[in-house]
Amino acid sequence: MNKKNRLYYYYRMFKWKILGDRTPIAAAIKITQRCNLKCKHCTWQNKITKDLSFAEWKNIIDDLYKQGVRVIVIEGGEPTLHRDASQIVEYIKSKDIYIIYITNGTQDISTINPDVFWISIDGMRDTHNHLRGPNVFEKMIETLKKNQNKKIISLTTLSKTNAKDVEPLCEYFSQSNLLYGLMFHFSYPYNDIKDPTLNAVERREIAQNMIQLKKKYPKLMNSESYLKTVGGEKKCYPWLLVVVTADGKQQQGCMVRHIEKEDCSKCDMGCYGELSRFYEFKRDTNKFWSKNFGLPRLF
Ligand code: SF4
Ligand code: SF4
Repeated sequence: MNKKNRLYYYYRMFKWKILGDRTPIAAAIKITQRCNLKCKHCTWQNKITKDLSFAEWKNIIDDLYKQGVRVIVIEGGEPTLHRDASQIVEYIKSKDIYIIYITNGTQDISTINPDVFWISIDGMRDTHNHLRGPNVFEKMIETLKKNQNKKIISLTTLSKTNAKDVEPLCEYFSQSNLLYGLMFHFSYPYNDIKDPTLNAVERREIAQNMIQLKKKYPKLMNSESYLKTVGGEKKCYPWLLVVVTADGKQQQGCMVRHIEKEDCSKCDMGCYGELSRFYEFKRDTNKFWSKNFGLPRLF
């Protein structure tokens, strides 16, 4: 990140903290909600089945940029099913916005070039296939092998089903060059979720263990500041993020509100957790965002 960008972020921090401005810095855009999988824990897939065109997404991206968004997470559904996925990525890049692209790893991603991929890995082979479907783990590993020239980080959403797989995943991927890093967070107990979620005590215990595992596995990327808040009292600043659904509807703030009334005592979603710690000037969280996700070092 160059100095100009660092100054820009100081300017944004000044506006947020001193002037009380509440404009977002990041956006999660669901360019399609269609998906080729039917994961047990999914709340979003196929809720909207029609995709917007590239021209419509260009307008949305222009608008997000004007609002102050400088990091975009492309997600779904499986975003690769949008016929213009790579064009959308290139357009975002042309605007000097950092792009994170979330995929389930079953589709061809060779022609898509975001700054970083987050690939969904829900556990070791049996767990992953139990949650996502037969042979999905094997397909995802094939995708990793074919795309070793790309920066790919795993994203694991923890529930009662896969909590036991944290260390085996760290061990497995530390032995190979398939991933740049591993990132974990916790599933939210939406009313219609089929995969059993963890309670606050269990989440806290797992997060405390992860703080220890970070010493053994440097690829485990979550910031200690985020992990320390898991399962306990913390402040969330959900307005830092705006969510755009596949029909183009924008909603700044809490993602849960798209689906149902939120309950913060049950939530340890990593995107909001890590962004909120960044806003609180936690040094290790700033390092986490700057090393891996395009935000500059501010302190
Ligand atoms: S790959 Fe993602 S969007 Fe598709 S069903 Fe699984 S969790 Fe849902
Ligand atoms: S439910 Fe989670 S993301 Fe939403 S406001 Fe509460 S803590 Fe933040």
